[in-house]
Amino acid sequence: MTDVDALRALMEADRWIERVAAQRRHLPEAEELARVEVELRSLAGALRAAQDSSAPVRERLASTHAESTRLAERATDLERKLANSGVAAPTLAALQHELDHVRELQSSVEDHEIELLLEVEPLDESIRAIRSQASPLASRRSDLQAQVAALGASLDDELASLRAARELRAEAVPDALRARYDAALARAGVSGAAQVVGGRCDGCRLALAPLDLDRVKGLAAGEIGACPECGRLLLL
Ligand SMILES: [Zn+2]
Repeated sequence: MTDVDALRALMEADRWIERVAAQRRHLPEAEELARVEVELRSLAGALRAAQDSSAPVRERLASTHAESTRLAERATDLERKLANSGVAAPTLAALQHELDHVRELQSSVEDHEIELLLEVEPLDESIRAIRSQASPLASRRSDLQAQVAALGASLDDELASLRAARELRAEAVPDALRARYDAALARAGVSGAAQVVGGRCDGCRLALAPLDLDRVKGLAAGEIGACPECGRLLLL
């Protein structure tokens, strides 16, 4: 294997690693997961707001209902006393008066209870709507979390074996050349070498000036020039 071949093999290994690493960074499942989480957080906020507005109405409804139950019991009690034949006439009149009053109160409390029921219904409905919107999203989130974990682990394994193979290729490059390669890699990223394709450096896409191109082509065998733009070693 020539030095140039060894350098090309190293460049290809680094480019391959970068492709897999980019795939790892931009998993469509992870991107969907992020969107789902944003949506779930906003639904959780809406749910809290809906619960906050429904809670006081629910409390008023409960106390109104308790009051109407109490009045109904009181009315039943008074009716029983009135039905008792042994009660004196003045007492009967007083009982009847109280019963009328209790029934009047009861009717107004029941009206209020109905108003509160009508008020709480749409609030409860919006809570149900938010919950039914969130429920499929929550299970989608679990699925995506599992998929992202599995894909991430498998890509991490792949990257680890690609990096091990890359080290073997790096060892095949002579030290001086590898030092230049590593310096260009540290500066430009992805790979420390690039291929000249159609008069361009395929690392940074710079169209090489004719003079630069001639200079790279005119180098003695085994000598390797660098891209004036990105500094990567240029392979012809
Ligand atoms: Zn370049």
